[in-house]
Amino acid sequence: MSKILIAEDEPRIASFVQKGLRANGFTTAIATDAQEALNMVLGGDFDLLLLDLGLPIKDGLTVLEELRGQGAQLPIIILTARNDIKDKLAGLKGGADDYVTKPFSFEELLARIRLRLRSYQQDSVEVETALKVGNLLLDLRTRKVRLEDQEIDLPTREFILLETFLRHPGQVMSREQLLDHVWGYDYDPGSNIVDVYVGYLRKKLGSELIETVRGMGYRLRN
Ligand code: CA
Repeated sequence: MSKILIAEDEPRIASFVQKGLRANGFTTAIATDAQEALNMVLGGDFDLLLLDLGLPIKDGLTVLEELRGQGAQLPIIILTARNDIKDKLAGLKGGADDYVTKPFSFEELLARIRLRLRSYQQDSVEVETALKVGNLLLDLRTRKVRLEDQEIDLPTREFILLETFLRHPGQVMSREQLLDHVWGYDYDPGSNIVDVYVGYLRKKLGSELIETVRGMGYRLRN
């Protein structure tokens, strides 16, 4: 089982990520400052590092540089605030494998983590590449959706919402669950964004696909 270090000083984000990763079968640990992150990676056997760039003691880019300088090869995904294009580029140049922009949804982060672990652990036997329910197929590598013989392009959020439904076929998903899975910790629970996006999916994939369960939420027909 893959072991992930979460280097993040904001407790709310660290515990949101930890909770989600554990629920998905990962082993996790949290480092709350740069020195701790360095010590844990260099002294441990982690398979992947999630690295917040704004860490106490040293910033994340310095941590990245020191880790790569000392030969650490594990995949590193940096967590960064929305508009820090400069940081993202510096991070990738400094040896990060990928980045996720805050605020992020858990599903989005999980997709990045799975992708990076896959390319790192080339030999792992079973790799999930597609999800299928009825006539609907989601290719998780190319992010293409196929409905019968038709290929449909979906923007990221719609894809992630659909992926969430396909991971729970026939199960009623509440608005809160969907909001949490797809939009993350930064959204108002009173938001109607879930309903709006379900509407987008119905428009593109047919109104029959996702059923409204009154007073409870939505369910993918299977
Ligand atoms: Ca921070």
